[in-house]
Amino acid sequence: MATIQLQGVSRRFGETAAVSDVSLETDRNEFLVLLGPSGCGKTTLLRMIAGLLPPSEGRILVDGKDVTALPPRERDLAMVFQNYALYPHLTVDRNLGFGLSVRRIPKEELRRRVNEVAELLDLGPLLRRRPKELSGGQRQRVALGRAMVRDPKAFLMDEPLSNLDAKLRSSTRTRLISLHRRLDTTFVYVTHDQIDAMTMATKVAVLNGGRIEQLGTPVEIYDEPASAFVAGFMGAPPMNLIPAELGTDADARLVLRAPGVEIPLPRTAGRDPGVREVLLGIRPEHLTPVAADHTGPALRGRVDIVENLGSEEIADCEIGDLRVSVRGARPIGLNPGDTATLAVRPDLVHLFSRQSGRRLEWLPEPENADSVLVS
Ligand code: ATP
Repeated sequence: MATIQLQGVSRRFGETAAVSDVSLETDRNEFLVLLGPSGCGKTTLLRMIAGLLPPSEGRILVDGKDVTALPPRERDLAMVFQNYALYPHLTVDRNLGFGLSVRRIPKEELRRRVNEVAELLDLGPLLRRRPKELSGGQRQRVALGRAMVRDPKAFLMDEPLSNLDAKLRSSTRTRLISLHRRLDTTFVYVTHDQIDAMTMATKVAVLNGGRIEQLGTPVEIYDEPASAFVAGFMGAPPMNLIPAELGTDADARLVLRAPGVEIPLPRTAGRDPGVREVLLGIRPEHLTPVAADHTGPALRGRVDIVENLGSEEIADCEIGDLRVSVRGARPIGLNPGDTATLAVRPDLVHLFSRQSGRRLEWLPEPENADSVLVS
């Protein structure tokens, strides 16, 4: 069990700033997921923590000790890669014990640790097989087991599930969650898959262009995305982002005006905000198909495609030049070609600055108990 601290860590490759000024700290026993699109710097950051790549700037601390200049073997961290890198000519048993035997760990101790890990990962029946006689998921478990026998301070994992099919990914996620609980160890896990992040993380760092866009629990990241980028990255389909204008009505109440819809917000303008250009964010599950004569705020458009996910359906609708997704229990009550009326709940909308992309927050104004909007 270890804490990992990054203090102003950056890494450049020539002109490319792969990682810029990243600072974060894990709690003990954290499952930290580094999440972001291809090229955002996840792997570079993980390799710096592992000691495989020196940072251009900044410090890395493990359990409060500065390890920035230490080589990988002196950091006591185990790395699990996306390609399993097993020895093809060795049995599972020997693959598991290999790292210990080169360190001249006594035989009985080696046996004990290999057996313990084999039991934890359900590898017992496979110990005599070679990697080519294993499925992808089984190989992944051996790779994990090989890291675990060392009993490291923390596990660093780079897309370890990316070669597995959907069903195996899901069962391996469950296994990783329970392993994390039982091992009482820090995990740092790189992925571009938001489901990995939502299901396993205790904390998520969303990276964009080498910088941390948001650091928080999965629920915070989903429910209160710090920017339009995070909102558009988390969720499948992601949050609908609709250009809108924020202004006031005749009674000084705040309203959002988007094509074909006016959404009264449950607030009075503390100060006249003028007209502000914003992005209106609505999660697909917060749009509800209703009858055409619905009187509350609603988006109106044409249903293009309806996808059946089994228990749920996702409808893709055209609203003027925009496309929005609607998600709901099957049957969602929409068919391709229909004209859809989609009710909007004003209390569930998100607002982002159209200029900076940052989330706009309501802050109570001390003097008059009304609200102001800040980004
Ligand atoms: P992916 O999900 O595709 O693996 P990533 O988020 O892990 O991407 P990195 O591999 O960390 O991203 O790369 C971050 C940026 O740094 C990219 O622009 C990449 O091209 C660049 N980069 C990474 N390694 C090197 C290198 N050795 N030399 C030059 N540029 C590099």
